[in-house]
Amino acid sequence: MSETRTEIEKARRLVVKAGSSSLTTPQGTIDGDRIDALVDVLAARRAAGTEIVFVSSGAIAAGLGPLGLARRPSDLATQQAAASVGQGLLFARYTASFARYGLTVGQVLLTADDMMRRSHHRNAQRTLAQLLALGVVPIVNENDTVATDEIRFGDNDRLAALVAHLTRADAVVLLSDVDALYTGDPRKPGARRVDEVRTPADLAGIELGRSGRVGTGGMVTKVEAARIAGLPVVLTDAASAARALAGEPVGTLFHPQTARLRSGRHLWLAHATTGHGRVLLDAGAVEAVVQRGKSLLPAGVTGVQGDFAAGDPVDLCGADGRVVARGLVNYDAAEIPDLMGRSTRWLARELGPEYEREIIHRDQLVILT
Ligand code: GLU
Repeated sequence: MSETRTEIEKARRLVVKAGSSSLTTPQGTIDGDRIDALVDVLAARRAAGTEIVFVSSGAIAAGLGPLGLARRPSDLATQQAAASVGQGLLFARYTASFARYGLTVGQVLLTADDMMRRSHHRNAQRTLAQLLALGVVPIVNENDTVATDEIRFGDNDRLAALVAHLTRADAVVLLSDVDALYTGDPRKPGARRVDEVRTPADLAGIELGRSGRVGTGGMVTKVEAARIAGLPVVLTDAASAARALAGEPVGTLFHPQTARLRSGRHLWLAHATTGHGRVLLDAGAVEAVVQRGKSLLPAGVTGVQGDFAAGDPVDLCGADGRVVARGLVNYDAAEIPDLMGRSTRWLARELGPEYEREIIHRDQLVILT
């Protein structure tokens, strides 16, 4: 068994994510048998002493049948209505299914905002830790009923990766309707199974399908989730869950590639937020920020795009337009043109000491190149 597979077998805290099509029927109702089969596997692992955090999709899919909808709606309001109906049904089903093993479940619905705002982030972290300490199996989903298009994760793969960080898990198992990552569409001849991904080179030339039947992820978000997690990640189908959790060679194993980011704060800056605007940097500032880990000073700024307020996350771009970093900005967008190109000393003298502060402090920056 590969060493990384062993890490999954030995994990003391495991995040398991299941996609909508593994939990619901094509008619848009909950598939009780498949839920029970999956819970059997999770409960067995729990009985063996592993803490499980379960990330479950399926809220929208499970709401379709009860609302008489033949397919996933495209408008946000109907998706949210379906999620509102489906999430309750889904959670009730989990409660009953885990109760067969005497296990209590706790519902945790998170928004992207909960990952972005430090106070919310801490709060979610504390709640999850406390649930685990109490022996509860947390069942996490995006809070679809309140998420708006702009601030949605939209997929539970990345959410699972962020939850793995939030809970300091040891490994992640992503259960989907395909048993592994393939080099092309697995329904077509010639597509080869990818057993392991060790470096980005292993993904070169692979066509990553965008979207499944009722979920939203496709392979792109799974690969992205593996990158974000920075932990061993196994991707396989729900039918192979028991074998995947036992560390057997099923599905695709992603070896951790990225060095762990310094803190949860940097993690959410890098992966859970999108920039509310852009600050353009000259070459010297790019070098200072990216290579030397310096704060961004007004002198190195050449332009600003978008309408953001002090405290918002913004993208930092080089002269070629490439995003090199993201950070929490200290000024409103409208203030920056007057500061650009000026030394902090000049600004302090001409505008007052409060203008001596950097555009973005180094501790509030994460490099994205
Ligand atoms: N949160 C969505 C749901 O429960 C699913 C997102 C996804 O497909 O990953 O329906």
